[in-house]
Amino acid sequence: MKKDCVFCKIIAGEIPSEKVYEDNLMIIIKDINPQVKKHFLLIPKKHYANIVEMSLEEAVELGESLKTLSTLVDDLGLQDGFRLVSNKGGNARQTVEHLHIHILGGELLSDKMG
Ligand code: AMP
Ligand code: ZN
Repeated sequence: MKKDCVFCKIIAGEIPSEKVYEDNLMIIIKDINPQVKKHFLLIPKKHYANIVEMSLEEAVELGESLKTLSTLVDDLGLQDGFRLVSNKGGNARQTVEHLHIHILGGELLSDKMG
């Protein structure tokens, strides 16, 4: 856990969140400021800033978490499709320096990626 990291605090239960899934590797919460009808964040429990800082072990665990996500598609109401996005750095406007994957769906998304 990193001091002053909002997602570490959510994982530790120090900040409330709308959690829709949790296991030993990750949580999935509702984004507090949804950009589309269904906007979730998949957040690894281990703190690292982005995929550039990710270790091989963390990459394997993230892969496991994505496989878990594939089993939750119906539960999350994403059966008509969804988009995964992970921002890294200033040009991508990353605001929280703890890796997270945006899960976007619930409606027809823009055909533009940025
Ligand atoms: P990014 O710009 O990729 O770093 O995305 C950070 C995301 O975290 C934004 O979509 C925020 O709305 C979301 N966010 C920030 N604080 C919270 C929080 N306390 N609970 C849920 N989502 C949050
Ligand atoms: Zn953190």
